[in-house]
Amino acid sequence: MNATDYQQQAKHSYIDTPNFPISDHDLMVVRYALGLAGEAGEVANYVKKSIFRPDGEITLDLAKLEDEIGDVLWYVAALCSITGLDLGGVMEWNIEKIKARYPEGWGKKPKTRPVSITETIARINDRMAKLWSRGADLYAAGQDSEQIQRKIARYSRALMRVEQKLPSKRRG
Ligand SMILES: [Mg+2]
Repeated sequence: MNATDYQQQAKHSYIDTPNFPISDHDLMVVRYALGLAGEAGEVANYVKKSIFRPDGEITLDLAKLEDEIGDVLWYVAALCSITGLDLGGVMEWNIEKIKARYPEGWGKKPKTRPVSITETIARINDRMAKLWSRGADLYAAGQDSEQIQRKIARYSRALMRVEQKLPSKRRG
């Protein structure tokens, strides 16, 4: 196959314009997601070039690495802002997820038996019920319950993800 043949055949699945209307907001989400991927690529490329050198010398400059990681972080924050996500909430949820996945730390066997999907769902529902109760108390006291609401939304999303793993859902 030559390049021209390949290009012609690749056109079979190619589109030259979005096949749906896209808003300025969605374009900005795409812009920040692409920026994030680009900056993550810069981190990866810098580390690669610093470690795999023809002279075998490792030249990883932490100030430069810090600078590149900062660029990644900027796009993470921008992506949170454009989508209305709270970066602190993202961090908090990520830590909860990692702790649930590796309760004893990565590579260490959990002391307890593995938790079944049904049990995980029950735990999430229990946690959500407590959050609803706490949110209702705050609301009744005229206090801000926004953080609780965000947590409930995160648990709801987690619940949906876990429920998708149920065997009956998987078959359907
Ligand atoms: Mg950069």
